[in-house]
Amino acid sequence: MISRILFLVILVVAIVLFVRKIRERIALLKAGTDENRFDRPGERLTVTLINVFLQKRVIEERFSGLMHAFVFWGFVAFSLTTLTEIGRGLISDRFTFFIGFLQPLEIGYIFLVDIFAILVSIGIIALIIRRYVFKPKELSYTTVVGGEIQHHHAESLIVGGLIFGLMVTYLGMVAFQPSEHPLSPIGTTLHAVGGANDLAYHSFWWAHMVLILSFLVYIPYSKHFHLIACPFNEYFRNLESPATITPLDLEDEDAEKFGVTQITDYSWKQLLDLYSCVECGRCRTYCPTYTTEKALDPKKLIIDLRNHLLDQSETILANQKGKNGNGQDSTTEIDLPLIVGETLTPAEIWDCTTCGACMNRCPFYIEHVPKLIGLRQSLMLMESEFPEEAQTALRGIENQGDPWGIGQARRTEWAEGLNVTTMAENADVEYLFWVGCAGAFDARNQKVSQSLVKVLQHAGVSFSILGEEESCTGDSARRMGNEYLFQMQAQMNIETLEGYQVKKIVTACPHCYHTLKNEYPQFGGNYEVVHHTELVADLIQQGKLKPSKALPDTITYHDSCYLGRHNNVYQPQRDILKAIPGSQIIEMERSKANGFCCGAGGARMWMEETEGTRINENRAKEALDTGAKTVASACPFCMTMLTDGIRTHDKTETVQTVDVVELLEKSL
Ligand code: SF4
Ligand code: SF4
Repeated sequence: MISRILFLVILVVAIVLFVRKIRERIALLKAGTDENRFDRPGERLTVTLINVFLQKRVIEERFSGLMHAFVFWGFVAFSLTTLTEIGRGLISDRFTFFIGFLQPLEIGYIFLVDIFAILVSIGIIALIIRRYVFKPKELSYTTVVGGEIQHHHAESLIVGGLIFGLMVTYLGMVAFQPSEHPLSPIGTTLHAVGGANDLAYHSFWWAHMVLILSFLVYIPYSKHFHLIACPFNEYFRNLESPATITPLDLEDEDAEKFGVTQITDYSWKQLLDLYSCVECGRCRTYCPTYTTEKALDPKKLIIDLRNHLLDQSETILANQKGKNGNGQDSTTEIDLPLIVGETLTPAEIWDCTTCGACMNRCPFYIEHVPKLIGLRQSLMLMESEFPEEAQTALRGIENQGDPWGIGQARRTEWAEGLNVTTMAENADVEYLFWVGCAGAFDARNQKVSQSLVKVLQHAGVSFSILGEEESCTGDSARRMGNEYLFQMQAQMNIETLEGYQVKKIVTACPHCYHTLKNEYPQFGGNYEVVHHTELVADLIQQGKLKPSKALPDTITYHDSCYLGRHNNVYQPQRDILKAIPGSQIIEMERSKANGFCCGAGGARMWMEETEGTRINENRAKEALDTGAKTVASACPFCMTMLTDGIRTHDKTETVQTVDVVELLEKSL
């Protein structure tokens, strides 16, 4: 009886400590701003259940993912055992859930638990060896917190030790339990060695329960809170294209700031992300800035922000209770340190190409890019602090409608002699061809626009361009954080498009494509937008384009981030290349969803790249290493970056860079 009371007291204390910390963690989330992530519950739940119970994204990383999955599945399998043991501690040594019609299921369950006891032990030992013996680079992390260097290996060792201890004590219980279970291979074997021993059994039982309850309490107090946070983060993940930026309400007269300056300016979901990082380092694998040794490391970004949030938790929570000593109540802006300068450097904020490789790889859908964009917005709109060289592009967009500042009057020069009509001349067409600034002004990309025109004319597609009425979509301005300029551009362009009642748009620029397709609807501009490769691949399939001239060539195709990762368009480009007689495609190792950025996205096209090595040279080298004689892309920015990269490697004489549609045109 005394032992039952003692166990009850320990259990209650553990639950109280657990709940208290969980409430504190939730209160911190509530300090964030609002964000609606409650739509499409069915879709959210389905994917969450698949990811949680099948560990789908975790096991994408074959070895470590599978070992982690063993541990997770083991925990799920053991949960009923744990509840049973709690029942035995509180009620009776014979307590079981398998009573009545459930009784026959007990045999299978005990067998399952036996199997998972082995798998969990294998998983934990393998993960400890991986972390401490092989020391993979993606697990390394060192940060400065409160002036001290913190290594995060200690926590992993504690948790690994706790789980391993749970397995050992479980096996001890099985070995000395009053009677062995017939369908428990481990139990029968161990029981044959140990035999029924009441004292030993109860000693292991107590050790097991103390470890379990210690683990329960430890979770919310440690970085392993992710064990609880991750399923929720998966449920509340972004269901839209990951690069789509949430609009700022610039007309809100009560707004005291735009963007993010302090941690509570993030939405509750962005804060939940911080709880969910398991520090696996997968976000680094295809990150162009981490790979080329720049300041921005996506794993460090999330950990630093999490540490910052936890460091400020006392102030935030005190403010919520209205007792922070300054007489501030919860409606008053909390005086928290600025993120930029205190926790992150400006270089980290501006390095990002918004390629999305980090978010695509993260097993728990953590969103890195919105965190950086929020900081860019405040630096841009509140402080006017941004890389000086970006000023030229912003001024060009604002004054002339394009980042080069060339001016609308020259937007149609590329089309001279091609018999291309403008919407003003002929709006009775199926498609508006949105040329984009690069397609209209950049000499190399003008050739792509010309090729596309010839291909569309060949297929009999009716289209017009806006000509002088087209203006920059504002993509670069938005990625730089200049939401004000972006919204001006968006509203102006939408007005023009509405004037011609445009329904379908084709464009050769993935950045225009993404913005027109996913971001203009935020301002009432709804169009059916296709990338030129989607339309051309479709025309080939319909038999309206028949590539017949052989182009014996080895081609490697570089995926544009804004077409591939952000909009899931990978196949049409490859279908077009395959349709060209004689072509032989050689894929780069980093391709499709794991493609490597060219370095131009996120408005990096307009900024200097001074840290580490150059991203475009890294990518160009990979393309050259395939031995292909042609490097194809489907994005004007990628074209520019790859051409420059190949020039640096001194290979322009032997390797050409082309847009997919240029190859197709040659083959018609
Ligand atoms: S979006 Fe790309 S560049 Fe930015 S942190 Fe993620 S992987 Fe790195
Ligand atoms: S952000 Fe995601 S991928 Fe990166 S370390 Fe954290 S959990 Fe892993």
